[in-house]
Parts: sequence; structure tokens; C-alpha cells
Amino acid sequence: MIKERLNILNKIDELSKDISKTELILDETSKILALEINPNQKETILMTAGCHGNEPAPVYAMGKFLEEKNFPKDKRIILIPCINPIGFVSDSEFTPEKINVNRDFKENSNSKEANFLRKIVKKYNPEFVVNLHEDPDETDFYIWVEDNAYKSKAEKLIAELNVSYFKDKDIHGNQVKDGIILDSKEHDSFEDYLIKNHIPTFCTETPGEWSIEKRIKVNLDILNKIVNEVSK
Ligand SMILES: [Zn+2]
Repeated sequence: MIKERLNILNKIDELSKDISKTELILDETSKILALEINPNQKETILMTAGCHGNEPAPVYAMGKFLEEKNFPKDKRIILIPCINPIGFVSDSEFTPEKINVNRDFKENSNSKEANFLRKIVKKYNPEFVVNLHEDPDETDFYIWVEDNAYKSKAEKLIAELNVSYFKDKDIHGNQVKDGIILDSKEHDSFEDYLIKNHIPTFCTETPGEWSIEKRIKVNLDILNKIVNEVSK
């Protein structure tokens, strides 16, 4: 177990003690949190991190985001800082039951983690969802965009982040064009589930080849830019 990662989860727990939340206890030391900021606002954005435990930077960015409290007042923000906390502390892509949460959205889900995501989506009915991931094997940034109408929003985000992104690249059989994968193949992912429920979504990928500090900063920038963007 990685002590530093347990510490960041404890810190997130501490920072969220006055925030209303939904939680799921996984074992004696682990739970999944869904934090509800500005509960009285209607427009809702859901942002998640830590689906794959070997993609740590977004979880650290969630900790900083909660620390800085730079939240706009005009929308409800639901944060799931770490979907797979047991995977995170053990640097595993999978849950303890060896399930890849982002391939667990068939007709029904097997993992507690995927079922928690379904429950949160049903409970809060978000207008837009951002899932922060990392691609450990890659050198440049890219975004999976599941709704053509959101392509320009993704282009704007990429331009504002001011980072190196893939211009033209094959990623696991999907084509990245100018930093964006549109209309990806179905793979029983959380994104597939969202789009079937008509909820637009981004899945961002910081590359493992960047330093952890840079990856945390870029993920924090994404969180801030998404919540502070004026509604469309
Ligand atoms: Zn991932």
C-alpha cells in the first residue's frame, strides 16, 4: 500500500467534512465519496477521478481543488474525488475483485464502484460529466468526446490548457484528431453509459510521460476551467 496515497484520501475526507455528500463504505479503511457543492443550484456538473488506481494525478488535483475552494456559486458541482480508492492506494487499474470499472457498464454492472456511479448519475441527473483519466503509456494529452455538439467546447479547453496534445494518432483503434477522439467504439465504459442516457461527457487523458507535478496542475486547470465556464 502506498502511504502517500492513503494520506491524500484522508486529506480529501477531512476537506469534505462540511460538504453534503453521498458515500459508500467499501471496507474498514475505504469509502467512495460523492460531494455536493451548491446543493440548491439546478444546473449540475459531475466530475470524477480515480476510476483506475494507476492514474493518480487527477485524485491529487481533486484534493487541491477542494483545498482552494474556488467554486462558482451558479451551479451544483458533484465531485467524486476517487472512484476506486482501494485500487488507488495499491496503484492498481482494477478493483480488489479484479474488475475494470470503466468496462463494467454492460446492461448491469458487477462492481460496487460502477453501481455507485450509476446511483450518483440517477440521483443528481447532471447536464455534463467530466471524467479525469491518465494514459500511463503516452506522451501527449487528449480527450474522448462523446457528443459532437461538445466538440467546440473540447477544442476551447485544449487551447486554453496550452499543453502538447496529439494532432493525429491511433489510440487503441480510435483516431485522435487535434487532441480529440470523437465517436469512439463502444466498450461498456462509463462514458458509453452516460451517452446512452443522453448526458454529454468528456474523458480527459493526461499522459504518463509528463511529470506528476505537471499532470496534477493540468488536471486542476481542467477542473477550474470546467466549473468556471459560463453555461452554454
Ligand atoms: Zn483510466
